[in-house]
Amino acid sequence: MRIISATAIPIELELKEPFSVANETVETASNVFFKLETDTNLIGWGCATPDSVTSETEATVLHAFNTVLKNLLIGKEPTRIHLLNEIIEDQLKGNPSAKAGINMALYDLLGKNANTPIYQILGGYRDKIETSVTVGLNPADVMIEHAKDIVSQGFRCLKVKCGMDPDKDIETVLGIRAAVGQNIKIRLDANEGYTLEKALRVIETLEKLGADIELLEQPTPAKYLFALKEVTAQCTVPIMADETAFTLRDSLKLIKMEIADMINIKLMKIGGITNSIKANIFAELAEIPVMIGCMNESMGAMAAGVHFACAFKNVLYADLDSALDFKHDVVRGGAEYKDGYVIPSEAPGLGIEVDL
Ligand SMILES: [Mg+2]
Repeated sequence: MRIISATAIPIELELKEPFSVANETVETASNVFFKLETDTNLIGWGCATPDSVTSETEATVLHAFNTVLKNLLIGKEPTRIHLLNEIIEDQLKGNPSAKAGINMALYDLLGKNANTPIYQILGGYRDKIETSVTVGLNPADVMIEHAKDIVSQGFRCLKVKCGMDPDKDIETVLGIRAAVGQNIKIRLDANEGYTLEKALRVIETLEKLGADIELLEQPTPAKYLFALKEVTAQCTVPIMADETAFTLRDSLKLIKMEIADMINIKLMKIGGITNSIKANIFAELAEIPVMIGCMNESMGAMAAGVHFACAFKNVLYADLDSALDFKHDVVRGGAEYKDGYVIPSEAPGLGIEVDL
């Protein structure tokens, strides 16, 4: 099987609600779909979601595709993914979401060629995973109502954004805990918004008042490694690195330096499934559990995260909720939500159908 055509199709998807975290607010999300056609008539789909977090835009993704990636792919055997990944990493620096979109399209073809879903090709440890659903930053009463609404849809795990104002964060989280009861998991994500002192004060206060926090994600700025290491050392709640864990090299460094208790791997940050496999192996050997998270990903991209999360034992956490956020997605299949879990499609490859 050889790739005979590669196309990039950018679209702007409208969110149901503007989404705010400590470092930005967005109303639409750029998703660039990649379509790889082969001489056996199989078609592989992938999707890049460029984001300010990875310093990418729709334009940079299209530029990387048109000037480098497309030419590297035409005529190649798509199932030789480790070889193609090495060539791409060698020829194109940065551009992780563009690489992730191409890499997942190659896995889609691998799965379709084997008539097997990706989560099974990758090892198939489990066939579903519990996911959190994110409560974005808003006034406390709006966040409490949002949390109740998520729980009413059957989800059992909330990821509450914080990091702007410690006192408001404490009030909001206590309000959410009171509203949803003790049986719902609450994890926090400060998106780099705290100092060491603020992070410790928020967690100590919440723990004293019985908020029962599962974990705190990226309390301090990504570049201050020792601040994060200090929060991890002093905090009674597990600390997860997200913005600090970008590339494979970042992930290895933070594992070796014992900077965080857990890592949030996102395919768009690290450049796809192949690189995520490597980071997850480092983490597992160091006894550091992994979360698979997502950007503003349509199901076209998020499905790859669901398949990945289900494939590996060390992925104990999933934050794979972005496909819920769009007014209209252009993708069907891939994964479905049921009783708080996200379940990968049993169809071959990523199991997505794209209306483009
Ligand atoms: Mg995060």
